[in-house]
Amino acid sequence: MYCPFCGAPDTRVIDSRLSAEGDKVRRRRGCLRCNARFTTYEVAELLMPPVVKRDGRREPFLEEKLRTGLLRALEKRPVSAERVEDTMLRIKNRIRANGERELNSQQIGEWVMEELRNLDQVAYVRFASVYRSFEDVNAFREEIERLQNPPTGLDSE
Ligand SMILES: [Zn+2]
Repeated sequence: MYCPFCGAPDTRVIDSRLSAEGDKVRRRRGCLRCNARFTTYEVAELLMPPVVKRDGRREPFLEEKLRTGLLRALEKRPVSAERVEDTMLRIKNRIRANGERELNSQQIGEWVMEELRNLDQVAYVRFASVYRSFEDVNAFREEIERLQNPPTGLDSE
């Protein structure tokens, strides 16, 4: 977080506490350059680490973007809104539990694929084909073949 007084890029968290409602975190921060103290109220979404894209640019984690990607993959699939939200929650928990200061967009994509693989295989293939694009054609082909010939012994719906 940038210091609002001098603009220094790095500030130290002195104290952190969750609001009574549990949806915000109040943080006392101190600037490492000018020593100013200030308080921030951060909503849960802002507590997510920034995402580093393939080209090295950073962007804030946007829940809507994640949801849009999931819904696009799940379009016309028999998956309830509730299960989509469960999936969102699991992915967000993995991001938070990761505890890193920043997250690789590829890592998030891998987690989304793991979740989709369990949720709906058509959605999984759709997401994987967009996400992995042509970087990894062989892996993608193997994945399709694996889905077409599932190992025996798995329960089918
Ligand atoms: Zn400062």
